[in-house]
Amino acid sequence: MTWTRVYRLRIGDRDFRLLEGPCGWGECSPLPGYACSASSALSAATEAAVRTWPTPVRDVVPVNALVTGSDLDPTALAGFECIKVKVGRRDIRSDISLVSAVRDMVGPSVAIRVDANGAWDETTAELVLTSMARYGIELAEQPVGDIEAMARLRRRVSVPLAADECVRSVDDARRLRSLRAADAVVLKVQPLGGMWAALNVAETAGVPALVSSMMETSVGIATGLYLAAALPELPLACGLATVGMLERDVTRLPLVPEGGVLAVRRVVPDLDLLAVVSADDRLHETES
Ligand SMILES: [Mg+2]
Repeated sequence: MTWTRVYRLRIGDRDFRLLEGPCGWGECSPLPGYACSASSALSAATEAAVRTWPTPVRDVVPVNALVTGSDLDPTALAGFECIKVKVGRRDIRSDISLVSAVRDMVGPSVAIRVDANGAWDETTAELVLTSMARYGIELAEQPVGDIEAMARLRRRVSVPLAADECVRSVDDARRLRSLRAADAVVLKVQPLGGMWAALNVAETAGVPALVSSMMETSVGIATGLYLAAALPELPLACGLATVGMLERDVTRLPLVPEGGVLAVRRVVPDLDLLAVVSADDRLHETES
């Protein structure tokens, strides 16, 4: 028998539920249109509230900067050892020239990865990644949609591939491994149903794992941070430097990086800020 208290709020046009429980705070905030089931997001939030969190094996987690558009801001990229460029939303020439511009801006020693969120077909992905290889691409996240397509593409390009949206369960991770479909796996707490499930997915996938956010508040980012801190090895920067992309946060001490890393800590929201952001601030008490 345990308890959770649910705080409902809206940020922009998105619904957030923050769950408080005896073990901490969790977040349920499926992103409309994104591959994340409502039930796995709720499981993740409940787990953070009522289950012991994984034990960190490191104090800081390296994170990447994010480039989503073509207006590059050098100050936003300064201090990061890895830059992730969102691709697949424009024509391929624009994507290639954006990656070229980022490489010119950051110099040769900073890692650049691209993330297409499964937007390309195999032919396009092969063409673009072959062309981008000259800029030194660390990883291409989810260039194509499914595990089988990833496996085929991986044999035709030199750029390492990371699986993200095509892995949503341990079964998916098992198939990824058996088809040798990726060089790395991206873990997200909510779509995978929690920190412990995500650790299981990482172990099953048998490739290096990194953690990225689903554009959560600092409460959700903290669970991603603990997941990243608990991975036995973490050779790749994580996509957890995203709270600045939300209109507002739920704490006065947001999880923002310093010097390209996030210090591992928990987050307790400031209740007055929850009230401020609340368009629907019902209080629930449940027992399970
Ligand atoms: Mg991704």
